[in-house]
Amino acid sequence: NLQQLQQLHTYLWTLPQASGDKRAQVLLYGSAPLLESMDDKVLEQIAHVAALPGLVGAAITMPDAHWGYGFPIGGVAAFDAEQGGIISAGGVGFDISCGIRCLRSNLDARDAAPYFNQLADRLFATIPAGVGEEGQINLNPKQLDQVLLGGAQWAVKQGYGDLADLDYVEENGCVSGAVPGNVSELAKKRQRGEMGTLGSGNHYLEVQVVERIYDNVTAQAFGLREGQLVISIHCGSRGLGHQIGTDYLIMLAKAASRLGIHLPDRELACAPIKSPEGQQYLGAMNAAINCALANRQILTHLTRGTFAEIYPQASLETLFDISHNTCKEEQHEVDGKTRWLHVHRKGATRAFAPGHPRLPTRYRDVGQPVIIGGSMGTGSYILAGTSTNQAFASCSHGAGRAMSRNQALKHWDGRTLINDLERQGILIRTRSMRGAAEEAPGAYKDVDQVAEVTEQAGLARRVAFLRPKVCIKG
Ligand code: 5GP
Ligand code: MN
Ligand code: MN
Repeated sequence: NLQQLQQLHTYLWTLPQASGDKRAQVLLYGSAPLLESMDDKVLEQIAHVAALPGLVGAAITMPDAHWGYGFPIGGVAAFDAEQGGIISAGGVGFDISCGIRCLRSNLDARDAAPYFNQLADRLFATIPAGVGEEGQINLNPKQLDQVLLGGAQWAVKQGYGDLADLDYVEENGCVSGAVPGNVSELAKKRQRGEMGTLGSGNHYLEVQVVERIYDNVTAQAFGLREGQLVISIHCGSRGLGHQIGTDYLIMLAKAASRLGIHLPDRELACAPIKSPEGQQYLGAMNAAINCALANRQILTHLTRGTFAEIYPQASLETLFDISHNTCKEEQHEVDGKTRWLHVHRKGATRAFAPGHPRLPTRYRDVGQPVIIGGSMGTGSYILAGTSTNQAFASCSHGAGRAMSRNQALKHWDGRTLINDLERQGILIRTRSMRGAAEEAPGAYKDVDQVAEVTEQAGLARRVAFLRPKVCIKG
């Protein structure tokens, strides 16, 4: 990879253009080793993204980038609706609004540790996880439409969690612009039994201990201290989001062909934001965002119930809830001018700088909490948004895969892996040993490196490192 790239700064690279190539600039954030180990497909994919109509600035990859469907995972691309800018289902990702809810507890890991086994068993019994696992909640079509319109606000009204949670969820738990009528019956049917479920594979509910604080002032604003237990819930919009992705890929491909938009890759199916199809997808995507926000709110409630059984004094507050598969309309300054843009973040999280008006008051001075998952065996990071960020306020969302699921299966055996982790004091509960092998910590990049480079590249700064203790894997 490195031979094809031109280095702009220590942690910023560009892919030079062939003569006659009219695409926009490509910018890649990362260190030489991270970029060297990145799959080659990413360069091709991000160059294709840079050729899409109405792209503003550059097509960007984050330090954790890897191959994805159409757009790379860890990809950021902003479009201007007024200049023919497009929206793409592959640029959002199939698990629309997949993201992480992070809860801080008032518990100390040392006091809580004797009950970790019990906690793992009870969480595993309570949190529906794995392929095809259904939840306790069964919604009729009218109720599901209310979820799609109301998001986490709907969930809180139903008694799942507290009003105070909503202050710390993106968009206060509910995005506008959701149109349930743009979501197919099949997508809705798939979701009816899946509210309040974790999903499979990469999704998890993890109990973690704050092992290291990097920035005391920000940690204090985030309510974090060494030795404290926190919980991260990683899941998305389940069957509904996936079906919307599938449905609209076909519809957007047809729109592109009808409107004569040249697609360098079929997987980049897209339509102008202002076209009927573009608007229709936006309405469906926003409905899926609300579905995911409601889902994480319900899982938060279930988690609190289980903690209360085992630790009667436990109190779990929402630190933050942030999605990493979305397209959002936001204001950004470009070449000194403020513009409304549609920012695709696929496997990338938003990271608002200190002072951003859309941050909750509690975090206004220090910046938005950003959560980078690592793996079930290594650890995760909490970071904060910075004013040095020049990537449309975007940041890495994970360590990123270093090898495919199939490759991982050849390297690891699930049972052996889980036993090894248990010896290291990490309790895994899963219904799928195959899934565990696919999710082996070694199948991901080095999260320490990704977090460090993310900070050095000015995208966000490290606040705390979290070590896993109990992980419920989907
Ligand atoms: P994605 O949404 O791209 O599937 O996953 C986000 C990130 O979560 C991955 O890049 C990976 O680094 C991280 N991750 C995957 N599984 C686990 C897990 O079980 N625990 C933690 N803490 N992180 C994980
Ligand atoms: Mn995710
Ligand atoms: Mn997901």
